[in-house]
Amino acid sequence: MAISRFKALDLAQNRPIAHVKIPDQKISEYYGCNTFNDDVMKSLLSPEAYKKISDAILSGSKIDRDASDEVAAAMKSWAVSKGATHYTHWFQPLTGSTAEKHDAFFDIDYKTGKAIEKFKGSAFLVQQEPDASSFPSGGIRSTFEARGYTAWDPSSPAFIMENLGGTATLCIPSVFVSYTSEALDYKTPLLKAIAQVDKAATAVMKDYFDRDVKRVIATLGPEQEYFVIDEALFNARPDLMMAGRTVFGHAPAKGQQLEDHYFGSIPPRVNAFMVDFEIEAQKLGIPARTRHNEVAPAQFEVAPTFEELNLACDHNQLLIDLMGKVAAKHKLKVLFHEKPFAGINGSGKHNNWSLGTDTGINLLGPSSKPKENLRFLTFFVNVVKAVADNADLLRASIATPGNEHRLGANEAPPAIMSVFVGNTMNRVLTEFEKNKEITLEKGDNVYMKLGVNKIPPLILDNTDRNRTSPFAFTGNKFEFRAVGSSANCAHPMTVLNTMVANQLFTFKEDVDKLIAGGQKKELAITEGITGLYLISKIIFEGNNYSEEWVKEAAKRKLSNIKDTPSALAIFLKKENVALFEKLGIFNEKELHARVEIEWENYVKKVQIESRVLGDLAINHIVSTALKYQTRLVDNVRGQKEIKIPATLYKPTMDTIKKISEYTGKIQTLVEQMTEARKKANTIEDSHKRALAYNQKVKSFFDPIRYCIDKLELIVDDDEWPMPKYREILMIR
Ligand code: ADP
Ligand code: MG
Repeated sequence: MAISRFKALDLAQNRPIAHVKIPDQKISEYYGCNTFNDDVMKSLLSPEAYKKISDAILSGSKIDRDASDEVAAAMKSWAVSKGATHYTHWFQPLTGSTAEKHDAFFDIDYKTGKAIEKFKGSAFLVQQEPDASSFPSGGIRSTFEARGYTAWDPSSPAFIMENLGGTATLCIPSVFVSYTSEALDYKTPLLKAIAQVDKAATAVMKDYFDRDVKRVIATLGPEQEYFVIDEALFNARPDLMMAGRTVFGHAPAKGQQLEDHYFGSIPPRVNAFMVDFEIEAQKLGIPARTRHNEVAPAQFEVAPTFEELNLACDHNQLLIDLMGKVAAKHKLKVLFHEKPFAGINGSGKHNNWSLGTDTGINLLGPSSKPKENLRFLTFFVNVVKAVADNADLLRASIATPGNEHRLGANEAPPAIMSVFVGNTMNRVLTEFEKNKEITLEKGDNVYMKLGVNKIPPLILDNTDRNRTSPFAFTGNKFEFRAVGSSANCAHPMTVLNTMVANQLFTFKEDVDKLIAGGQKKELAITEGITGLYLISKIIFEGNNYSEEWVKEAAKRKLSNIKDTPSALAIFLKKENVALFEKLGIFNEKELHARVEIEWENYVKKVQIESRVLGDLAINHIVSTALKYQTRLVDNVRGQKEIKIPATLYKPTMDTIKKISEYTGKIQTLVEQMTEARKKANTIEDSHKRALAYNQKVKSFFDPIRYCIDKLELIVDDDEWPMPKYREILMIR
């Protein structure tokens, strides 16, 4: 329930710093203690079952019934020994958060009526039916077959979630699919994309560079940005509570200029919170490593060490969940919305991504050995080419209502997809493209003759960064920076890895043809690489936030798709459906279902914001402003009565008029917005409805907000009903 501004301020200002219980052990001793990890399985399972499960984890295959019964029994007794009373299949439906359905570990024996603890692996690990009818499925499931099932993903370890109040639940990371085997979640397509990029990259590695490579693993290190504010102030802002962002609020006198915040020390309450959630994260085997302030006031970042992609995605979801829970102990609220406050930086989630082999080579890491650089160039150029050819799809993968406030809005990264490669690589690629060979600058003397081609050692300057690029090469990985802070990484990562897999398959086919035609291997590879170039189109090294770039990108015919509904429609373009079908990531039905859900989600989000804005504008802001105005009117009347010259109270008269003007405008606009909403709601087609919400409803937000923010500067501070930005953002 919403509380009053002054009550909230009072609470927020007098909060003690919450006590954090630091474990007696060292991090290395308790790290991962709440996960059913490899060590635990090794110690609890028979050698046969352990082997079966290890194989299944590596190959993504299923485990048989006997093994699953044994694993289930071991998992259960381990969980019970850790205090767990319930278990749940933990999965990621398309609602954007994680879902759980808790079942108790005990059951009733129908014959005796006594409580027993009986679990079959088949029920416990392999298959469980949640009530799927309430999860979005985009029309895949007709209501009569409203069933889906969840099944353990053995490549992500089960874990114990300690609940507030001392209870604990065993969580089993799972996929969620319909009975007709369509994916209803984010994990299923991700696992498929990971398998494809593995297949494609391993083939390239094996045949061209290194026979010993058996597996290529996509890796991810997501840097998570977020805001932290006091719980009471959050509860005093219905817009934050309902929409996750503020729909009005005047920029504080000292706002983003607080760039000092970035370098400043972490506020003590927030620091305690960070220490606390990091301990919990480490227990769950989440490698939370760095923490710091971000650019905006009350904005922070947590970055884990990178991990295998599937696990990193699970861990990011889990971390988000965990941070929310731990924040409650500290009477704090974490905001993961991409743009909770206008006028100051929004939040992103930089997806640091690379490919590594099972033999420990980072395929996007350049080397000082020229021969290895042919390998590096192969993967590097293929990734850039994949982005060049599928830039719109990459844009679509990050299209959400929240991210719309960042991409292409007043502040960046822009909705234009481009790649930053850095000085050295730019020079290398340009030369390579021009001359089909790379020459070294004078003074360098390490040559590797590959026929006509020369591959230099590449020593990159790690500080060569571009913080405005949506997709930047950062020395040994690509950083997809345009992903929104609240996104499930699995979605953009599914798209990226699909694109790259497809590109690598094509590349391999082309080069194999050259080799079959008698070309020497190295030469064929180099020719394959030079044949890919499109660098002038997609590569941009300048300031992505500038106006010039928007113009330049238009000249290059790069898309600049600003609105979410249109960006989502890209998934359904013929060539994209074909791409996903070809690699078996999504079939057409699944793609349609997904986009349908996203459009509906867009409508719901904008609808909620619009309702909250309308409600607050009329019932809180206008009514407060009019009350204040009445006081001014009384005052002027009084001044007149005692014969104060009119010129002296003219400024007050002007204020009275201004209040009339703004409140009048708000009332008119809110009415028009409500009408626009009604009209949009009658549109059957969800794409068109989403577009109507974007163009006809959302367009009222800024004009209404403008009037409210003006009134905030006029109305008596004592009467303003909701916490102001400067109050919310002043976290201690
Ligand atoms: P910076 O902060 O300069 O961008 P870091 O080395 O701190 O660079 O990396 C940022 C993130 O990128 C971290 O989460 C890190 O683990 C991750 N990262 C580093 N190497 C890789 C890689 N090979 N694959 C995926 N992520 C990586
Ligand atoms: Mg970074």
